Amino acid sequence: MRHAILADIHGNLAAFKAVLEDIEEKGGAKELWCLGDIVGYGPDPSGCIALLRQYPHLCVAGNHDWAAIGKVDISDFNLDAAEACRWTGRQLSPEDVKYLESLPLTLTRGDFTIVHGSPREPIWEYVLSTQSARDNFRFFETRYCLIGHSHVPMVFEHVGETCLLGELPAALRFGGNRLIINPGGVGQPRDGDPRAAYAIYDERDKVIYHYRIPYDIEDTQQRMVRQGLPIFLVTRLSYGR
Ligand code: ZN
Repeated sequence: MRHAILADIHGNLAAFKAVLEDIEEKGGAKELWCLGDIVGYGPDPSGCIALLRQYPHLCVAGNHDWAAIGKVDISDFNLDAAEACRWTGRQLSPEDVKYLESLPLTLTRGDFTIVHGSPREPIWEYVLSTQSARDNFRFFETRYCLIGHSHVPMVFEHVGETCLLGELPAALRFGGNRLIINPGGVGQPRDGDPRAAYAIYDERDKVIYHYRIPYDIEDTQQRMVRQGLPIFLVTRLSYGR
């Protein structure tokens, strides 16, 4: 059994489609596990929700998902994010709003806890340091936790009383230790590589495969410009920052 792990699609339909095509080429996945932020920043929020819902999937809420429908406030957003968020809210159908509204903060599936930000603060906390990861290992009970939010692929390993941080390798084989894993972002990567990032979990072999997929960045950028979305959000896609 294989499941695809997708975080931070962010309304980027070209990136999302490229990832879905890659999943099919690799033999498909039983379920899509979406780690939140389907919308926000990108030019096709409604299209991304509709496409996700065509697949067997599970999804947790991200800060942008709930900010776009007014369920959390956006006072912590920078100006560009807030502007894109208000634009996103205007694009959503009543059906989209109902779907985003219904997303849970946390899910568990087998050995995995699934959240957007962190198990401690599911939609707002960024887990980027071993300090915050070490604290967060106390906030979930499964062996593994999947997170998004930072758009940076990485893995934290709980070893005795300490916590190690590593880059997410192309194939992450599970040993016995507990892990917090971020597959990187589909629709707005921030680790310096502009290609879409996602992962596939192979349940039988206990491996997470990490992939980077090229997509038509210019197509997304042109659509953003046409919609009048903030130019910083447009240009950052070229650099993956
Ligand atoms: Zn995000």
